[in-house]
Amino acid sequence: MAEFNNESVLAIETTLNQVDRALERLRVGSYRMCQVCGEELDQTALVRNPLLANCSAHPESL
Ligand SMILES: [Zn+2]
Repeated sequence: MAEFNNESVLAIETTLNQVDRALERLRVGSYRMCQVCGEELDQTALVRNPLLANCSAHPESL
């Protein structure tokens, strides 16, 4: 079995951190809001990407 390289581990950690933040936002009730402007996120976009945290005007810089 091949070992995970650092790049894969980083990508996995990034995704898990996003999940963490999404769950936290869900808990405090800000899940559906853009983290920058507070605008309500597009439901279709959220379904497509449940980790979405910003509206289209404020794409998240990873
Ligand atoms: Zn925004």
